[in-house]
Amino acid sequence: MDLIALLRELSDAFGVAGFEDDVRGKIERLIAPLVDDVRTDVLGNLLASRKGKGDLTLMLDAHMDEVGFIVKWIDDKGYLRFAPLGGWDPRILPSHRVEILTRAGERRQGVIGSAPPHILSEEDRKRPIPIESMFIDVGASSREEATEMGFRIGDPLTIHPPFAELRPGYVSGKAFDDRAGCVVLLEAARRLAEAPLKTNVVFAFATGEEVGARGARTAAYQIDPDVSLSVEGTIGADMPAVAEENQPVRLGRGPAITVADRSIIVPRRMVEGLERVAEENSIPYQYKLPTYGGTDAGAIHVTRAGVLSGVVSVPCRFIHSPTSTLRVDDLENTIRLVAGFVKALPDVLALG
Ligand SMILES: [Zn+2]
Repeated sequence: MDLIALLRELSDAFGVAGFEDDVRGKIERLIAPLVDDVRTDVLGNLLASRKGKGDLTLMLDAHMDEVGFIVKWIDDKGYLRFAPLGGWDPRILPSHRVEILTRAGERRQGVIGSAPPHILSEEDRKRPIPIESMFIDVGASSREEATEMGFRIGDPLTIHPPFAELRPGYVSGKAFDDRAGCVVLLEAARRLAEAPLKTNVVFAFATGEEVGARGARTAAYQIDPDVSLSVEGTIGADMPAVAEENQPVRLGRGPAITVADRSIIVPRRMVEGLERVAEENSIPYQYKLPTYGGTDAGAIHVTRAGVLSGVVSVPCRFIHSPTSTLRVDDLENTIRLVAGFVKALPDVLALG
């Protein structure tokens, strides 16, 4: 499968935080032939391991979950009320079509509604509508009807516009945060499959990052790694209305190496190791400007007695919204950096 086909497959999978089964199933099928062992833990993390020659263990982490919503109430007129799972900007929600995963495993459609502007006061029209005031129209006219249609409190949902290649090598789709990272891990696993490794590698596909790095925390505890590298899809903000010094990362400049975000200050040794791998392999790279966002690395590096942790990201515009965009050459260069880093261990960090 080429990179775009792989990204499309994972981007279109359902994986709202806490409901990652669909995306996990797809990743499991793809990675199983490339590793020595695959298992799913209690929190739903998928852990795929390869044995290396040495004693050192590297945890490569990407999160499977995406931001979404959960049905919190079905009113007597048949409208679904909902709450966010992960960070959303409420201004962008009204009138989007949503995909709701029912208990029966069906993906049903609905539309996010809010009071029509025609009936709002001038003052209210200027204010953003809070999520609590929005509702989902599924075509039911009563609670009973909505229930008969299969909807229940607790059903997860997301906004799912179709994946598209906007121009060759430039794609748009949902959940690139962090399916782009999942693609990087899968493709790195494939490219390393024939190579003998000096380090044990666990490809950890984590659950629940968007609600507080919940999966990565327990994954790191059981893997007990010496080193970890989290791979993210992060805030590409090279766009009108954002000053250059406020653009966390930019598209087309290659993988973004994190120096510090709100969840971790990356040890210099890790940053310099990644820089060295990039420079030795002629891979373009950029820094993610401090101190935007947080990642699984925030939970991983403080596990047990501490883990030497770093983060690299694929630049993606419009994350935490229904559709992101990314450049496939950035994705490719991130794969090269991650695979190169694995091969360069443990020497590149002066470990082992
Ligand atoms: Zn993420």
